Amino acid sequence: HYALGEGAAMAEIELRNLSKRWGGFVGVDRFDLTIPDREFLVLLGPSGCGKTTTMRMIAGLEEITEGDILIDGRRVNDLDPKDRDVAMVFQSYALYPNLDVYENIRFPLKVRKIDPATHKDRVMRAAEMVELTDFLHRRPAELSGGQRQRVALARAIVRQPNVFLMDEPLSNLDAKLRVSTRAQIKNLSHELQVTTIYVTHDQIEAMTLADRVVVMNKGVVQQVGSPTEIYDRPANTFVAGFIGNPAMNLVEGQMRGGVFTGAGLDIPGFSLPDGKVTLGFRAEDATLEGGEELHAPIYTLELLGDSTMVTVRIGGALVSVKAPKDFRAEIGDMFRAHIPASICHVFDGDTGERV
Ligand code: ATP
Repeated sequence: HYALGEGAAMAEIELRNLSKRWGGFVGVDRFDLTIPDREFLVLLGPSGCGKTTTMRMIAGLEEITEGDILIDGRRVNDLDPKDRDVAMVFQSYALYPNLDVYENIRFPLKVRKIDPATHKDRVMRAAEMVELTDFLHRRPAELSGGQRQRVALARAIVRQPNVFLMDEPLSNLDAKLRVSTRAQIKNLSHELQVTTIYVTHDQIEAMTLADRVVVMNKGVVQQVGSPTEIYDRPANTFVAGFIGNPAMNLVEGQMRGGVFTGAGLDIPGFSLPDGKVTLGFRAEDATLEGGEELHAPIYTLELLGDSTMVTVRIGGALVSVKAPKDFRAEIGDMFRAHIPASICHVFDGDTGERV
């Protein structure tokens, strides 16, 4: 791994019942989590769920209403941002337009009054890591969006912080650049081995980058887990409906004697108590062979290249099933799919919690 040198230290972050309120409005509600040293943690959720506010509290840019933040056991609630040894990368990368790439990367070293004799070496190493060595004498206006984003990354790296905070760093990039820069961030984080908290509303970014994902909604943590755990065992209907592309199909109905009925579906084989439930299954888990649980006219068909997404309307819900790429049918044709109990996720009909 890349040696971070004298700046490198452990950085375990503890959030203890962290809350942010503005008057009666709760932006973040009792966020409680330990982030081990070197973890890549992604905060994921829809706009307004409290991700940025959480991050800003960790950075020291937002006052904490209640709770504590500890970095390596040291309470930092009242520390200035500059004393926390965290480096932030924002979606708007805020480069200095009049400085070239070299000087932009060097800037934090000057501000922190780090021995000038070390600057060149550190800037060159950071530039190399983000593949910018050929662009050191260009100004930001002479760079592409992806290159500018990499300058912002290098500027964070050069400080050798104990913690990286990244707030939607890819959101200003076009789709293709986003994918390549995402790969670069993943590779960098592997090299740097620095505790990282990364905010995004993009679940693909979360799933591809994270050691662990925190799914948030309306200021409240919904689930914390590895990408696989969150995908395979969503804790509630919110997470189920947020993770996956397409998101999990959700159908409301009743469980009676081990049989789910709802929206025209009839699925036996559950060993669960009777009651109102929401049934979930993923488009890619259903199969066409032996299909009988689902039969409904096709609402729409989408060719995805490697497969065909078939969507039907049952009850009030649209439900999608992934079919092979050579699947041929017309809108309105009758469609059948196999949805055995074994691929289904069951959630409480009232609380939405997994049962
Ligand atoms: P986005 O993805 O849109 O950036 P987010 O999940 O990062 O969203 P936050 O920026 O953390 O969301 O905001 C959380 C909630 O707190 C939002 O509903 C927002 O309107 C509210 N909020 C943020 N700042 C303030 C403020 N200064 N005063 C009152 N409410 C605020």
